[in-house]
Amino acid sequence: MEDKTDKIISFAKRRGFIFPSSEIYGGFSSCYDFGPLGVELKNNIKKAWWNEMTKMKDNIFGLDSSILMSPKIWQASGHLTAGFADELVECKECHHRFRKDFLEKNKCPDCGGELTDPKKFNLMMKTFIGPLEDEAAITYLRAETCQGIYVNFKNVLQTMRAKIPFGIAQIGKAFRNEITPKNFIYRMREFEQMEMQWFCNPKDADKFFDFWKKERMNWYLSLGIDEKKLRATETPKEELAHYARKAVDIEYKFPFGWKEIEGIHNRGDWDLSNHSKHSSEDLSYHDDETDKKYYPYVIETSVGVDRSLFAFLTDAFTEVEGGRTKTTESKKSVETVLKLHKSLAPVKVAVLPLVKNKPKIVDLAKKVYDQLKVEFATIYDETGSIGRRYRRLDEIGALFAITIDFDSLEDNTVTVRDRDTMGQERVEIKKLINYIKEK
Ligand code: ATP
Repeated sequence: MEDKTDKIISFAKRRGFIFPSSEIYGGFSSCYDFGPLGVELKNNIKKAWWNEMTKMKDNIFGLDSSILMSPKIWQASGHLTAGFADELVECKECHHRFRKDFLEKNKCPDCGGELTDPKKFNLMMKTFIGPLEDEAAITYLRAETCQGIYVNFKNVLQTMRAKIPFGIAQIGKAFRNEITPKNFIYRMREFEQMEMQWFCNPKDADKFFDFWKKERMNWYLSLGIDEKKLRATETPKEELAHYARKAVDIEYKFPFGWKEIEGIHNRGDWDLSNHSKHSSEDLSYHDDETDKKYYPYVIETSVGVDRSLFAFLTDAFTEVEGGRTKTTESKKSVETVLKLHKSLAPVKVAVLPLVKNKPKIVDLAKKVYDQLKVEFATIYDETGSIGRRYRRLDEIGALFAITIDFDSLEDNTVTVRDRDTMGQERVEIKKLINYIKEK
């Protein structure tokens, strides 16, 4: 039986969600392109996160910092030195390379050969700025978006007249030279992060850590993730990243096992104090009430856009044996429904003229389409039988299908079909927008 991950990979390509990068040149490992439906889904995930973090929460400010930054930032953050390296081992027989911490036994998982001693392998991606490829011009593609937040801590504090506790949120690309990229978009070398850094008084750090852990778990549940497939796991002390005092992974149960989709970290004063030491800027906070200065502690919530998209896609991907629409073609086959949450579904409404060779029906369908597209992500589809169109729409998770038929010309009503219940209702055209909004 085909593994669910393989099914999702081929589905994602077939229906225009995710394509392998540089495919016509034979592909480019660990990079992916998001197709027409993938980019909509991705944008909806980012919108849901941005709304939740910057609009629904008080005291969180947005930021969009640059990807290329002074290399001094990566020196100060410890990424070039202390922590940001994985241990790499190589098989002496087949020369395949692996991350040591991912191996269950001390031999090659591919051929059983003997492994070399581990070597530290830094994950930062190097690049050159300016015309000379010499040492002075080396910089790095950011490996996490949060460093751009720390170096702007003072700018945001002052310009927004912020008071502790407050947060800064950012969405953007990050790059890591992963040793073993695998599991489709789970581990990539170019990916996108949604990170929020919450600056607080050290004495409140534990309280806020618990608060943000709960908030972030609830975000996934509010977007329809199956409760049984979501859990929070605390990282043992000896496995903590170089900057972390405490860490919890929010994990999703993928077909290939429980895997991290988001990290909640108490980073203490690691970042602000190190940037103060390495730059000439004092990034401590002056508390007006107590007239004391201190480095705020940082509680970080860090999620990959792509990884969470993979979780949402996996959770929504449902196959119905024997078909659900019960058309003659479908009875024997398996039908797919993408049960994405309504705010994530890339297409909300589809407008379908019953037939495409009756100008009056087509004209009315186009009129309805023009009205709806202003309000919702709407598509127009006139090819194939209605049953076949319904199935195509179920596959991409479209919430409502609206059919314009001969009766519509007489009484100005249309049939609205609901993706989840497959129930059909006749609705007056002039009431359509409100009907869909209410649903
Ligand atoms: P892992 O242990 O899987 O390498 P990590 O603990 O290094 O991940 P963090 O540095 O905490 O990850 O990054 C925060 C989030 O960014 C992760 O939870 C994940 O969603 C996302 N992320 C990190 N690395 C990648 C990657 N290579 N590809 C896709 N998403 C990633």
